[in-house]
Amino acid sequence: MKKIFFAFFVFIGAHSVFSQMNPEEADSLMFRKIYDMSLLNGKSYDWLDYLSNNIGGRLSGSYQAQQAVEYTKAQLEELGLDKVWLQPVMVPKWTRGAKEFAYVETSPGLTKNVNITALGGSVPTPAGGTKARVIEVQGVEDLARYGKEQIQGKIVFFNRPMRPDLISTFESYGGCVDQRYSGAAEAGKYGAVGVIVRSMNLRMDDLPHTGSMSYGETPVSKRIPAAAISTNDAAYLSGLLTMNNELELYFKLNCEQHADVQSYNVIGEITGSEHPEEIMVVGGHLDSWDLGDGSHDDGAGVVQSMEVLRLFKELNYKPKRTLRVVLFMNEENGLRGGNKYAEVAKSKNENHIFALESDAGGFTPRGFSFDADKAQFSQIQSWKELFKPYLIHYFEMGGSGADVAPLKKGDVVLAGLRPDSQRYFDHHHAANDTFEHVNKRELELGAATMASLVYLIDKHGLKKIDTAKKEKL
Ligand SMILES: [Zn+2]
Repeated sequence: MKKIFFAFFVFIGAHSVFSQMNPEEADSLMFRKIYDMSLLNGKSYDWLDYLSNNIGGRLSGSYQAQQAVEYTKAQLEELGLDKVWLQPVMVPKWTRGAKEFAYVETSPGLTKNVNITALGGSVPTPAGGTKARVIEVQGVEDLARYGKEQIQGKIVFFNRPMRPDLISTFESYGGCVDQRYSGAAEAGKYGAVGVIVRSMNLRMDDLPHTGSMSYGETPVSKRIPAAAISTNDAAYLSGLLTMNNELELYFKLNCEQHADVQSYNVIGEITGSEHPEEIMVVGGHLDSWDLGDGSHDDGAGVVQSMEVLRLFKELNYKPKRTLRVVLFMNEENGLRGGNKYAEVAKSKNENHIFALESDAGGFTPRGFSFDADKAQFSQIQSWKELFKPYLIHYFEMGGSGADVAPLKKGDVVLAGLRPDSQRYFDHHHAANDTFEHVNKRELELGAATMASLVYLIDKHGLKKIDTAKKEKL
């Protein structure tokens, strides 16, 4: 006991606790300052309010998308960053047109309306709409089983639900989204006249969820219209079909694909004080679907990323490495912004060491997923204790974000903020992805969590991969 006391005395005698904190103490104090600033004096929620309620849904190529570019650029300029600029990128422009309409006809003249919405990128129906019998399938792989004989001239109804037993709802989404993305291209090969896809939503409700789809190599003349149907109406249609497979479904889509238009990624930078050539990125995507106001997807990621730089400015923390916020355009239906950013970075031979994306909703942060080398990942895991008081515990390998993924090369560590995912798909790409469904504290905790990780990477750097060794593996 005496010995311990003596050792302690010598320790505090030799190093003043106040003047020379050990590195962990300094880091944990900085964490506290970051979280305090975000929770007590945050800006992310106000920015999101404006983006959602004054601008609204920001589909690529729309007037609102352009407004969002101008607004976020002006806000970044107000932060007094070292540089703010727009990076030009051509984006696809698809418009929904007048609201879609659909009904089920169980016998001549007896109809009931159902809730649908066009999938992004779909061709319209003929002017008079499309009316046909329906064949229900549980996935793209079912099509070959039914063959042309049973599919020709019909509307294919893809009705595989998201699995409710998976804890990660993103995993459930991943198990279904092929129906939405390539359902029309595949069903078209068997002579289908249209496609209706069960909304990617775990909840039973009346809201159809849109999202991108692709016709792949299908020639324009062979493309069939595709829409999502709400989960309640998917269950209703499926129930009717078991009793009457002769019923007909009518739907009318008024969407249109236009020529590409000029748009921009919005970029702001604090230039590194010691290693300006080492670049760290935080980002989200500025575009959104048009049904709601894109608050969770991905207004939240946009304002959280902006907040990371603001927090550092407010706390007078000058990063040693260059820190950039990148607000990517066109993640939803083209990924042109993410690809453009990586292309320009490559052409300028820029050295990105880290890129973090927030694109999983503005819900309570749980941690991060990483796309990193083993040694880099174990370095990051050694910081886990610092996050514990903030209930951040999830540090796993696997995936980052769609917009930062094209940066993958050499030593760069890619990461994604991982908020709680249970409610995300209640709102994803639907009319209820709106501002009132984002909780202020949850949003602010996410911004602080991102800033804390960026701070650690800036301060301690990231391990280099032994590429020679890696190639051997
Ligand atoms: Zn998104």
